Amino acid sequence: MPAPESLSTRGISAYSLIPMQTIVTESVVIAAAWINRGEVVAFPTETVYGLGGDISSETSIEKIFAAKGRPSDNPLIIHVHSSEQIREVASEIPETAETFIRYFFPGPLTLILKKNKAVSPLVTAGLQTVGIRWPSHPVATEFLKRCNHPVAAPSANISGRPSSTDWEAVYDDLKGKIPCVLKGPQSTIGLESTIVDCSETHPRLLRSGAVSLESLKKYVPETIAATTQKHQQPKSPGLKYPHYSPSAQVKLCGPGFPGCKEAKKSAWIGLSAPPEGVTKTAVCQNPEEYAYKLFSFFRECDRENIEVIFCEMPPEEGIGRAIRDRLQRAAENNDG
Ligand code: AMP
Ligand code: MG
Repeated sequence: MPAPESLSTRGISAYSLIPMQTIVTESVVIAAAWINRGEVVAFPTETVYGLGGDISSETSIEKIFAAKGRPSDNPLIIHVHSSEQIREVASEIPETAETFIRYFFPGPLTLILKKNKAVSPLVTAGLQTVGIRWPSHPVATEFLKRCNHPVAAPSANISGRPSSTDWEAVYDDLKGKIPCVLKGPQSTIGLESTIVDCSETHPRLLRSGAVSLESLKKYVPETIAATTQKHQQPKSPGLKYPHYSPSAQVKLCGPGFPGCKEAKKSAWIGLSAPPEGVTKTAVCQNPEEYAYKLFSFFRECDRENIEVIFCEMPPEEGIGRAIRDRLQRAAENNDG
């Protein structure tokens, strides 16, 4: 639905309050047409669903922030489909980044590089760097190829909620707030991309994801994990905000957790057999399945009015590091 004449570009937050019809389509042509006319579209990727807008349209970028209720100092990742598009948005590509691009693009990795002047500060929240990802999902690739410019996209959920890993979750959160959802299959990875900052001397892991620290170090041994002290500003601004929270309380436990003898209606997700007394369970065969199921399990628990979710902490290796990170944040947010 086009914005009413009376609302100016700066009236986006008012615009976002007017409910609109949300269409769900499997057509990349229809979805890209919305993007090319300055609208926002949710689309599938292998990590989680994204909420995209054309980087050359500041109105589109403002609509993304308004629809999600995302703080404006939390920058967006730019999604590309070619090396040419990487060069359009980055001003410098150091050798370390070239190596990561060669081995991990397209895929679940975001690189932070010095930004090209042409990229709007609205996308990067005023930073001089830009996050760039080239998704490998075939629907995402076909969609991006039909968009006239690279597409800025955070995860397609209301800020603070678990990221959406299927189109139904997107629809639950954003119906009436965005005009179009591009429907695809459930995201195969289920957790957001790994983020590596390549804008300084040594590449630094800012957010864990499916591309593990071990595999990054295999190709660039000097890659280091970011450590943020409590009083420091995190290098990735989004990390300071509450995230991934279901309405239920999240409680972390080790394997063989002795018991959940709570009066509350509870659930269990993990790699081991569930303790007695839980009403809903997801026992995963391996950490990859755990990652795939985690956010959709959180959302199912909310729909079923579960009050406490017990989550087993997986070993701290491979994608286990990313699962632990998301679980810790979900548990912190619950504690207020
Ligand atoms: P989301 O797309 O919702 O998964 O969030 C994107 C994440 O990427 C947030 O944590 C942002 O803070 C982070 N990010 C995006 N651009 C940059 C950048 N230029 N420097 C550091 N972190 C970034
Ligand atoms: Mg997000």
